[in-house]
Amino acid sequence: MPLSVRADLADLPAYIPGRKIPGAIVLSSNEVSTRAPESVLAAIAAAAADMNRYPQMANDDVLVRTAEYLGVAEDRVTIGAGSVAIAQQFLQAMCTEGQEVLYAWRSFEAYPIITQIIGGRSIKVPLTADYRHDLDAMADAVTDDTRVVLVANPNNPTGTAMRTAELERFLDRVPDHVLIVLDEAYREFVTDPEVPDGLRLAEGRENVAVVRTFSKAYGLAGARVGYSVAPPVLTTAARKVGIPFAVNRVAQAGAIAAMDAAEELLARCRPVTVERERVHSALLEMGFEVPPSQANFVWLLLGERTAAFNEHCLDQKVVVRAFAGEGARVTVSGLPEENDAFLAAARSFAG
Ligand code: PMP
Repeated sequence: MPLSVRADLADLPAYIPGRKIPGAIVLSSNEVSTRAPESVLAAIAAAAADMNRYPQMANDDVLVRTAEYLGVAEDRVTIGAGSVAIAQQFLQAMCTEGQEVLYAWRSFEAYPIITQIIGGRSIKVPLTADYRHDLDAMADAVTDDTRVVLVANPNNPTGTAMRTAELERFLDRVPDHVLIVLDEAYREFVTDPEVPDGLRLAEGRENVAVVRTFSKAYGLAGARVGYSVAPPVLTTAARKVGIPFAVNRVAQAGAIAAMDAAEELLARCRPVTVERERVHSALLEMGFEVPPSQANFVWLLLGERTAAFNEHCLDQKVVVRAFAGEGARVTVSGLPEENDAFLAAARSFAG
């Protein structure tokens, strides 16, 4: 019999990374535009010098530092090779073949991919008419077979965010046998005081895991490191299914140095959020439909015009992230001139 790989992989959706075009302004991957501080780069360089040695298997130093940084117990923290890896670890820890993973759609494009990879069954609940999570419909969609609900707050690619009262009501409604993974990859860009800090929201709840990342606000997208905070039972399970030594030496060192430089890094989020409001208003004035965003990007509803918009922006040397037939997600830079270049492209497209 010839060798065959899993048949279902034939229709596994591809994760499409934001494009990188030399000389263009890259607003396609929700990265920050500025390099990591010198102290972080120096820590990474120092760690790189020992590259002949494996990193710490259990991420000891970065785990201890993360727990201290967040003010949580170490047995609640998991370090992973990006928050997406940790989300996948939670799915692996919770699901066996065919079990249900529920999430809003559209949301982070990795969700259907990691669900299928672990053999789970995706249950997608459409967003509301104003591109927000339909939390009531999601709670209604939970069944005895549901094992995990993935909730991005703010949501990617819409940028929309849920507020404390609605999210608390949702957490109260979801039965205890279901793990809720609260994905806060963009937490540091939230300015609405009514959008909750997931760590506070999760306190005292045995079925909530919060995942966050050093990729965005902390400027380490290239290092691949994120963390979760969850009850110890879940944490032990998530750590168990992680690939040994997945978080490399420079990622571990970079994350520690980034937490040491947190004040400077978090201050860099402020120009991004100021620019976000400027970009959002300008786009609305041009006639685009753009939901309010609490993240470091905006979502332009373009429908069938998406491909043309994408091409137009590329012609203007601005790379955005197009979702064919739906819209374009555009990262808001902390550098006003980068946003100006995008706004000029959008303006000329709008005609
Ligand atoms: N969650 C959401 C909602 C995201 O948008 C992203 C990045 N695109 C991630 C998680 C993954 O981030 P990382 O794996 O780099 O930590």
